[in-house]
Amino acid sequence: MTSVRLLGASDIRRLAAELDVTPTKKLGQNFVVDANTVRKIVHAARVTDADRVVEIGPGLGSLTLAILETGASVTAIEIDARLASRLGQTAREQGVPDGRLAVVEHDAMTVAELPGDPDVLVANLPYNVSVPVLLHFMETFPRLSRGVVMVQAEVGERLAAAPGSKVYGAPSAKAAWYGSWRLAGTVSRQVFWPVPNVDSVLVGFERADEPLGSEEERIATFHIIDLAFQQRRKMLRQALSRELGGSAASASAVLERAGVEPTARGESLDVAAFRRIALAVADQAG
Ligand code: SAM
Repeated sequence: MTSVRLLGASDIRRLAAELDVTPTKKLGQNFVVDANTVRKIVHAARVTDADRVVEIGPGLGSLTLAILETGASVTAIEIDARLASRLGQTAREQGVPDGRLAVVEHDAMTVAELPGDPDVLVANLPYNVSVPVLLHFMETFPRLSRGVVMVQAEVGERLAAAPGSKVYGAPSAKAAWYGSWRLAGTVSRQVFWPVPNVDSVLVGFERADEPLGSEEERIATFHIIDLAFQQRRKMLRQALSRELGGSAASASAVLERAGVEPTARGESLDVAAFRRIALAVADQAG
């Protein structure tokens, strides 16, 4: 461990005042003001000094410093120019040795390259874009092998849900394309400034050793997942009828070829079954 000083509530207020930052909902700006919480996130992510971590939305640096405290290096992607431009100075002031932090001012939804070749993701995600940002990172940076993110409780439960669960949905099936997801703890609202009106959880993931399929197959599978969950109460032979030949009968034939019960609903299928449907559709077309 390096001797890095973490930020407390008064540091956060002072930095925000200095930068003239009033946290905005639009950018999901709820800053963690509690050192125990950021250490808990880093601990859940099992970060060590051998790790190259990418952090999405470092904000004023609460979590960034806790990651750096382990000796890991950090690449931080922040969309807010005022926050991005202050982070390097904050790290130096709090005792972080030079060369361990790279700050990229960019929208995490569209970032295509990351300096530092990170292999671990740790973030307190901006809540309004947490799922698309996560899926973008899983897709664009296959070197990311594991991570822990803090998200709104409902989103976290959905990401970690298994087929058959009430909260299993399109994000659950899409996330499972990349690997396994688990709930990794809860976080009190009181550790944020401003205090949000939703609960938060930690979600951990491990990327699967092998991708489930090609990029073409992933796109086709995600399309079927979207269609199945747009009408989640309907049986698949109805929800997918337009896509699978134009009628419930033609859809049933494709579903049977894919080894899927035509009367099943999307909420009971794992991502491998969605992929089989996408492959059966492609077979039929080709
Ligand atoms: N990590 C800090 C903490 O824990 O205190 C801040 C977390 S705050 C929930 C989310 C952060 O993400 C904010 O700093 C916000 O400016 C940033 N952000 C929001 N949308 C973003 C985007 N599309 N790309 C990158 N950063 C974003």
